[in-house]
Amino acid sequence: MAKYIFVAGGVMSGVGKGVATASIGKVLQSRGFKVTAIKIDPYVNVDAGTMNPTEHGEVFVLDEGTETDQDMGNYERFLDIDLPAINYMTTGSVYEAVIHRERNMGYGGKCVEVVPHIPLEVIDRIEKAASKARADFITIEIGGTVGEYQNVLFLEAARMLRLKKPNDVLFVLVSYLPIPSKIGEMKTKPTQYAVRTLNSAGVQPDIILARSAAALDSKRKEKIALNCNMRQEDVISAPDIETIYEVPLNFEKDGLSDLLLKKLKVRPRKNNLYDWRVLAKTARTAAKEVKIGIVGKYFGTGDFVLSDSYLSVIEAVKHAAFFHKRKPVIGWINAEEFEKNVKALKNLKEYDGVIVPGGFGSRGIEGKISAIRFCRENKIPYLGLCYGMQLACVEFARHICGLPDAHTTEINKDTPNPIIDLMLEQKAALKDNRYGGTMRLGAYYCRLIPGTKAAKAYGRELISERHRHRYEFNNEYRELLVKNGLVISGVNPERDLVEIIELKNHPFFMAAQFHPEFRSRPITSHPLFREFVKAAIIKK
Ligand code: GLN
Repeated sequence: MAKYIFVAGGVMSGVGKGVATASIGKVLQSRGFKVTAIKIDPYVNVDAGTMNPTEHGEVFVLDEGTETDQDMGNYERFLDIDLPAINYMTTGSVYEAVIHRERNMGYGGKCVEVVPHIPLEVIDRIEKAASKARADFITIEIGGTVGEYQNVLFLEAARMLRLKKPNDVLFVLVSYLPIPSKIGEMKTKPTQYAVRTLNSAGVQPDIILARSAAALDSKRKEKIALNCNMRQEDVISAPDIETIYEVPLNFEKDGLSDLLLKKLKVRPRKNNLYDWRVLAKTARTAAKEVKIGIVGKYFGTGDFVLSDSYLSVIEAVKHAAFFHKRKPVIGWINAEEFEKNVKALKNLKEYDGVIVPGGFGSRGIEGKISAIRFCRENKIPYLGLCYGMQLACVEFARHICGLPDAHTTEINKDTPNPIIDLMLEQKAALKDNRYGGTMRLGAYYCRLIPGTKAAKAYGRELISERHRHRYEFNNEYRELLVKNGLVISGVNPERDLVEIIELKNHPFFMAAQFHPEFRSRPITSHPLFREFVKAAIIKK
């Protein structure tokens, strides 16, 4: 038995379709079924790796090294599973495969057409993902909004799969119902149009998840049901709530898993959302705060502030705070501020802990280095992630090892002291402009040095973590930095690459070349975040 649940968005983006999809998976998983999740993105980029985070939010990295949309992170966190590369596709990756097959005579002389060959490739991938996971249920989120030119072929794939397996495919529309402030009434018309647009693609939704600032009343349910050609009980109210962890619980209040099982003719099993209820309760009720500052630069989109660029970091901080039964308060600090005004650095004292997350390029870099120095000298708990580790090493070399011109060659190619430098294969990739999918990507092993804080945090010697970077710690400087007190607490066993550094005589100063945030889960907080937040609480 494999049942396919397509999820598309109506009216507008950004209404929490990813979390809704993850929650659909969660309520089914909580009833003892095996669930996997697929994301389809309609853009032509072959993966999310070449996009600026302010364009499309965080780039989430899978074990296999695929650079994906942040929704894949939502699925992994909600379902507590590692997703394989086959579960992610874009228009670009689908066309690339079809064209490649055509060039290799894979279509045996046929005329290869957009329809049916593109949707067939999509369906083939969906079925492969289902059988790889041996899943009972597969959620498939179609990115974008219905009515957009670019996701039509994916709706076509959904239609074709339903035709092939009429009893095994279900269609959910996550729509939005605005409440214009001047009118003060919830409006259903945009949702009606969205359904009509879906109908014109040959798809009738089975369930509508009605996102809105408030809960749906019966009048609105009636209206949607009548005009969208469905039963009232198939319209589920999904009002704004405090924390995303409440979403599956809220869906269950409306009996969503029962409804899905009934529609797909699957015998129900007992529900177990106990862990999740405890988590949501902590998120709702934790009163004592822990204040974490994130020093970054990918915040702005026009006049608006977007924290999506650091989504997994934020989630990992939350998981750790909930582990310690604290309320996480996250502050955004623009690194460039410290370049304009050094005095602003002392504002860092307001935080119980500071993170410098991943990043690329030169904007804000000196500000980040100053922030790291401030944390080191003022004993503020510090966690560096990827760039935050590289810059911590540069800072240490400059101010402790007497190399004031130390730098990463990402910023200064000709620095006499390249503490952070490109590896050989990366030099070759950049020389040929091979940017897409060529970083050091995905899961690699790291051996921890017994006795270090990192080894104690993990409680074991061999760990595996996900990477996404081109530059590395330059081993030619290892001896010098270690002699001056830097502790190298984790090393990649195959290539002897520095993976984690830490400092003694500091409440918590640790930085990793990898991205621990990609592996943090709501119920099992990541050891590095857990220990970092613990140190932050102690400082407070
Ligand atoms: N820019 C750095 C590199 O490419 C760090 C990347 C990151 O933080 N993800 O190595």
